[in-house]
Amino acid sequence: MSILKAYAEVAGEDVIDHLQQLTRQMGGTRVVHVNSTRTGGGVAEILNKMVPLMRELGIDTDWEVITGDPDFFQCTKSFHNALQGDAIDIPRHLLDSFERINQEHAAELGKSLGDADIVFIHDPQPAPLLKYIPERKGKWIWRCHIDLSRPYRPVWKYLRGFLEGYDASIFSLPDFAQTLPHPLYLIPPSIDPLSEKNVEMAQDEVVETCARFGIDCNRSIVTQISRYDRFKDPVGVIRAYRMTKKFKPDLQLVLAGGSATDDPEGEQVLQEVRDAAGDDRDIFILMLPSDAHRTINALQRASDVIMQKSLKEGFGLTVTEGLWKGKPVIGGNTGGITLQVIDGHTGFLVDTPEGAALRLRYLLERRELKEEMGVKAREFVREYFLLTRQLRGYLTVMVALLHDIGGRIYAGEERVGSSGIMI
Ligand code: UDP
Repeated sequence: MSILKAYAEVAGEDVIDHLQQLTRQMGGTRVVHVNSTRTGGGVAEILNKMVPLMRELGIDTDWEVITGDPDFFQCTKSFHNALQGDAIDIPRHLLDSFERINQEHAAELGKSLGDADIVFIHDPQPAPLLKYIPERKGKWIWRCHIDLSRPYRPVWKYLRGFLEGYDASIFSLPDFAQTLPHPLYLIPPSIDPLSEKNVEMAQDEVVETCARFGIDCNRSIVTQISRYDRFKDPVGVIRAYRMTKKFKPDLQLVLAGGSATDDPEGEQVLQEVRDAAGDDRDIFILMLPSDAHRTINALQRASDVIMQKSLKEGFGLTVTEGLWKGKPVIGGNTGGITLQVIDGHTGFLVDTPEGAALRLRYLLERRELKEEMGVKAREFVREYFLLTRQLRGYLTVMVALLHDIGGRIYAGEERVGSSGIMI
């Protein structure tokens, strides 16, 4: 089956029609994406799906990856931490390496990028390329995937110097954006409905997966999938479960996260979680390998309710994944969770374990309402948070820039600062 047909089946024919209409307005545009890794991490994951989809739509699309030496990656890792708030002063020799590697890649990719109609530069790693390709013909877009809400100022100031010549920037959420001297667009993250983590799954596989861990699919299940991190409040989830369990004795709690051996704080949090769980045989604390996508898919499908009781959250992809499985989500009232959990419709927003317990009991006692909310949850994700919607946002920005109306499109009507536009 063609990729477009496969996406049409889950996202809807009209969504694919819309993508084709936008593509028609782009003529024979050549687009190049540039990032710094082909595998691993969310950016590569999305590009691995987005580039073939763009090609199938008929857009001449390339994907270039810049690589560097250890100094380069040490520098860009420090950028990442500093831009997300750590006070890190980056030594001059690392910045030199960052600039030199970009200059070398500019020499190598200069023709391809210089002639492209649209260039997407993802994150800070390849940001200086523009400076070294001054003769470029097309429009350049900086696509920032990280949280820039409270950057360490000296590092942001340095990086900003490379960004001023761009034609537009795209951020994931209003809070993540910084002012720049060109139009800013907001395009939230998305999930790929055809990935192993989100694809439809036979009930047999769901039941078998649960059985592997001793979880009983015939009893109620509430699940939180998260790294063992205090901001995800796993101990608060256990408290909420305990309060609900008094009224719903058949309830099971699944807490699933990755191995925390390389993260001393993760180990500590995991220990706190184990202590809080004590010898309760209905609490399942699972350590999953990083490629356990089908397991996570099955656990989400087996659940009656998904919990994401974060105290602080960026976007919260686990929320999107849970909603997509048709489950109401009880989520912490913070960050990107509030974009996804529409209180009383796709789930409930909560501030305390008591609040979470109340909502959990409420949902477990109302099967029909729970199913109704689940249907709304899935439709909400279909409308706003699938890969096809993210591509629609990219195409809209490209069409706007190609037709020189970059500062004048207000598709979603939500503005950040003076010039940010949500698509
Ligand atoms: N995830 C995973 N294994 C785990 C825990 C999480 O694969 O043990 C996945 C989860 O399904 C989601 C992503 O990692 O796709 C976590 O993204 P989110 O935005 O929820 O939180 P973050 O970890 O980025 O704070």
